[in-house]
Amino acid sequence: MSIKNITVLGSGVMGHGIAQVSAMSGYNVVLRDIEQQFLDKAMEKIKWSLEKLVSKQKITLAESDAIFARITTKVDLKEAVKDADMVIEAVPEIMDLKIKVYSELDKVADSNVIFASNTSTLPITEIANTTSRPDKFVGIHFFNPPQLMKLVEVIPGQKTDPQIVQATVDYVRSVKKEPVICKRDVPGFIVNRLFIPMVHEACWLKQRQNLTLEQIDSAVKFRMGFPMGIFELADFTGMDVIHKATIELYLRDKKVIFPHPEIERLYSEKKLGQKSGEGFYKYSDEKYERVQLDESLASKCNPIQLVANIVNNAAWLVTNKASDIEEIEKAAQLGLGLKKPIFETAREFGMKNIVSELVELAKKHGQFYEPDPLLVSMQ
Ligand code: NAD
Repeated sequence: MSIKNITVLGSGVMGHGIAQVSAMSGYNVVLRDIEQQFLDKAMEKIKWSLEKLVSKQKITLAESDAIFARITTKVDLKEAVKDADMVIEAVPEIMDLKIKVYSELDKVADSNVIFASNTSTLPITEIANTTSRPDKFVGIHFFNPPQLMKLVEVIPGQKTDPQIVQATVDYVRSVKKEPVICKRDVPGFIVNRLFIPMVHEACWLKQRQNLTLEQIDSAVKFRMGFPMGIFELADFTGMDVIHKATIELYLRDKKVIFPHPEIERLYSEKKLGQKSGEGFYKYSDEKYERVQLDESLASKCNPIQLVANIVNNAAWLVTNKASDIEEIEKAAQLGLGLKKPIFETAREFGMKNIVSELVELAKKHGQFYEPDPLLVSMQ
């Protein structure tokens, strides 16, 4: 299966980045949006990013010009997909909108064209089944910003042809990214299944043990190998993204997440994190300021509840045959920036202690906390 021409639907945060990385690897790219002005803005961003690469001497000016010339913009959908081998969809995360977009696309795209959705949280199989080609439909989850983030999750739906999965993996490698296959279309796939529930769990920990944000974040950074604290990471990601993901995950699986009302509160008060000037923390400057975290603050917090939460969700992925430990660790390293494998951290805390912690939490707060059989077997 040879893919040469890529059409990207949606030229926002993700779409323009996906278009750029594809063009940088030699693909002919058509970028499509509903208004020319959005496309013009996206092309400006791509130009800026390429100029930066030239100034850092990562690419030459001639290469930059050639990359830019490989991307054309179109508003007309039929025109946009007429030569496409693969369509990567990056329109807003709204199920009804995605379904509408695929219904229009299905009518105008050749029957051989692969449909790949960049959705973070919506069910691949459900969207695929609204099209005439669920066998050619696949999830392709890039991380933000696609230009820098190495990880791409590839998610087959229930009916996806293995050849389409392979072609998608090959495409991901060809744009110099690392694919991780999430073998089953489970809520949150791999990375969001680990990350989003842990934000809520950190809010529960703060409430239950009366800790400060900085104490918890220091423990997460210094004892769990995260590149920053979990509240910092949430502010960096944006409460709108976390709130939306929470709703989608919880809707589909009550076991994956134990929602804490703090996320809903911050979201409704428009405290979206770094981008709005306030989330868990306040940001006074336009420039990203790092919160002060240190070992002495870390010593005030035992994060075993958080370790238990993330490793329990990782174990769930293995038990439910969505992934294996090696792939999960690769996804966590590349998608969350973890410096230490999750199962290694869990072993440092002691698998027996982790399981007892989960059993105790389940007694107090319900079955959400019940330990996965894999963890029980690893004690
Ligand atoms: P965005 O709002 O920045 O961009 C979406 C773009 O799609 C907009 O330019 C909009 O005009 C356009 N659009 C709307 N309807 C369209 C249509 N019918 N045809 C073509 N374009 C249309 O959104 P985003 O953050 O880039 O997210 C896009 C997808 O990527 C979502 O599914 C999201 O869950 C996923 N995603 C986002 C992130 C992130 O951090 N932003 C990370 C990973 C995945």
